Amino acid sequence: MNMTGKNCIVTGAASGIGRAIAEKYVSDGANVCIADLKLEAAQRVAEELTAMGPGRAMAVEMDVTDEDAVNAGVARTVETLGGVDVLVSNAGIQIVHRIEDFPYAEWKKLLAIHLDGAFLTTKACLPHMYKQGSGTVIYMGSVHSKEASPLKSAYVTAKHGLLGLARTLAKEGGPKGVRSHVICPGFVKTPLVEKQIPEQAKDLGISEDEVVSRVMLGQTVDTEFTTVEDIANLAWVFAAFPTNALTGQSLVASHGWYMN
Ligand code: NAD
Repeated sequence: MNMTGKNCIVTGAASGIGRAIAEKYVSDGANVCIADLKLEAAQRVAEELTAMGPGRAMAVEMDVTDEDAVNAGVARTVETLGGVDVLVSNAGIQIVHRIEDFPYAEWKKLLAIHLDGAFLTTKACLPHMYKQGSGTVIYMGSVHSKEASPLKSAYVTAKHGLLGLARTLAKEGGPKGVRSHVICPGFVKTPLVEKQIPEQAKDLGISEDEVVSRVMLGQTVDTEFTTVEDIANLAWVFAAFPTNALTGQSLVASHGWYMN
């Protein structure tokens, strides 16, 4: 199995997990579009990855909640790279509040980035995948696709929702050679998680160390964070796997926090 010559779009790849996935793909010979809200950061990543090779990377500015921006970004990727074989719908944010305090606008913003973003990017890529009779869509879920935690109602709702989209796509896309999966990481130390540590300490009335050791890693088997490389390796397996034997799956990587 390898990624040589595969054309990929990774959303939210200017940072964190998405960046690591793009790097893994390029290092195995794939061409990757770094699609992110933050154009300059995306361009920097694209330059770094192209310099590293052997694949190459390009950048597009894309707000995954904006249908026109998504369609334009996918069209430019197909034009530049020659097609799209793999979509990793990864862009995401976290907002934490108790349900009774959750501002409706923030609820809608989070759901739009995770769910509308997954839908719109999938919708834009599918005609290209169906035309060539192959493709893989990987959604960035979370242990919160399977479990709940206090303060994370919007995130837990969105991440559970991605399982439904992935399973539906597996059924619709299977006869046309298109597969779909959900990767479900435990806590990975990226800017998204760094931001939550002081916020949760304040909301829960505990120290930041306790947030890490009890709330985030308390249920792991070894009190360790999952790494961006762990998730990039899984994203490589799903993208490189050659047949429909593997479709409609959700795989948890969380140091045993969640087992199924
Ligand atoms: P991150 O903050 O490091 O990166 C997120 C990226 O998404 C950023 O580059 C940001 O600019 C981009 N982004 C945000 N809104 C966007 C939008 N509307 N359109 C396009 N790009 C947008 O975060 P991360 O930890 O790497 O998270 C990536 C994904 O992994 C998210 O879906 C997140 O929910 C998921 N996840 C993260 C963890 C974790 O512990 N870090 C665990 C499970 C799942």
